[in-house]
Amino acid sequence: MSLLPLSAFNCHENRGRGDTAGHHATDVSDNLGSLANRAETPSIPPITVPANPRPRRDKCFYLEPITFQVGNTLFRVPKTGFQVPGTVFEAMFSLPSNETKEIAEGSNDDNPIHLHGIDESKFRAFLTVLYPSTSQDVTVDEESQYRTLIGALDLATFWEFTKLRKEIISNLSPMITTRNDLEIIFISRKYRVVDWLCACYKKLAWSSSELLIKSLLSPPFSLDWETIAKIYHIRDLISRSGANSNTKCGECGEGSGPSSIGPNRFCCSCRAVKMIETHFREEFLAMEENLADFLEPPALAA
Ligand SMILES: [Zn+2]
Repeated sequence: MSLLPLSAFNCHENRGRGDTAGHHATDVSDNLGSLANRAETPSIPPITVPANPRPRRDKCFYLEPITFQVGNTLFRVPKTGFQVPGTVFEAMFSLPSNETKEIAEGSNDDNPIHLHGIDESKFRAFLTVLYPSTSQDVTVDEESQYRTLIGALDLATFWEFTKLRKEIISNLSPMITTRNDLEIIFISRKYRVVDWLCACYKKLAWSSSELLIKSLLSPPFSLDWETIAKIYHIRDLISRSGANSNTKCGECGEGSGPSSIGPNRFCCSCRAVKMIETHFREEFLAMEENLADFLEPPALAA
C-alpha cells in the first residue's frame, strides 16, 4: 500500500516535461497540504506508542566486547568466547564489579585486562581458533596452520579450555603424523596427548627397518635414555616373539611370520600396542592426570 497519493509522485515527472512551473508548484503545495491535512485528520487512529519504547537486547546476538592487553598489543573480542565454564575467565567475569569503579576492567582500550606472561603470537593463534570466522587469511600453508594450532593448543591447555583443546587435537592429528618422530614425542609429552605418543612409540618399536641410536639422540628433540632403552626392549620382545610359521591374529586379523612383509613381520599391530601400553603405562597415566599441573605455558622449541 502506497503511503503517498499517486499525485505526489507526479510532480517530478511534470517538471521533467517542462510544463509551467507556477501551475505545478501549486499542485505540489496542494499535495503537501493534503498530506498534512490527512495527518491531522482525527479519523485516522493514532499510532499506539508502547509503554517502554526501548528495544530489547537479543539473547544470543548482543555480544559484549572485551579488551585484553597482551604484551604491548590490545585485542578486542566478543566476551562470550572466554565465558567457558571451569576456566579462570569464567571466575574472573563472575566477580562482582567494583561499584566505585565506573569503568569495568576490559571494557575499553584505557582499561584492558592484562594477560601477563602470555606470548602475543600464541594469544593471536588462540583467538584464530576460538573465533574462526574472523580469521582473515584462508590460504595459509600447512606449516603456518600447524604453528597456529600448536600455539592455540598451548593456551587451550594452559587455560583448561577442554572442549577447544579436543578440537585442536583433532585438527592437528593428521598434521602431526607428518612431523619428525622425535618432534612428535616432544609435542605429545608437552601437551599431554597420549594417542600421538603411543602411535609414535609403536612406529619406532614395531618397524622392522633399522633404528639408529644416533637418530634418537639427534637435536633439538633428542630422546632421554630411559625412553630409548624401552623402545629397543620392545623391539627385542617383538622380534623374539616372532612366530616361526605364519600366523594370523584373531583380534586384529593381521598376519605375521617369516613370509610377512613389512612391519608386521614379527607380530601384529595390536600386540605391539599392548607392549607399548605395558612398558609406558606410568608415563601415559601421568599424562592423563589432571591437566591443572600444566603450570606454565611452555615455550615452543624451534
Ligand atoms: Zn593383533
